Amino acid sequence: MALPYHCIFCRIVSRDVPSYILTEDEDCIAFMDINPVAPGHVLIISKHHAENIFDIPAPTLQRIMPVVQRVALAVNAVFLPDGINLLQANGPGAAQSVPHFHVHVVPRWSNDGLGMNWPLRPGERSAIEANAERLRAVLR
Ligand code: 5GP
Ligand code: ZN
Repeated sequence: MALPYHCIFCRIVSRDVPSYILTEDEDCIAFMDINPVAPGHVLIISKHHAENIFDIPAPTLQRIMPVVQRVALAVNAVFLPDGINLLQANGPGAAQSVPHFHVHVVPRWSNDGLGMNWPLRPGERSAIEANAERLRAVLR
């Protein structure tokens, strides 16, 4: 697939836009996020332009995830955070700002105040069950 030239991440892949690249292979590149929410915030992107989880080919995703794991292990070893969030946004309603598939590796500290934790509120069982049935119908 041709690289869409308006896409900032395609331009990082082609080296037309500089970035702090950590590692790359045939399928993906890992580089430092330019607006880090924490020291050690890394992005892993597909080399081919897929917008998000809805259109990235499953075999590509399968090959990218071990790289995400390698990067998470490196971030963990270097920054010694209290935890790590993997974040992957799909669509504007999910705050995806760059429409090119990417996974965030975000080191977290207990007191970092990032507010990515949501409170656990028990759902209504009948609604959960009904939603499960709607999904099973599609997954069958
Ligand atoms: P999203 O909001 O789509 O999940 O995340 C996009 C991420 O890409 C943001 O965290 C943003 O800081 C990062 N980003 C956007 N443009 C650039 C860029 O030109 N270089 C780098 N290294 N990161 C970028
Ligand atoms: Zn792209």
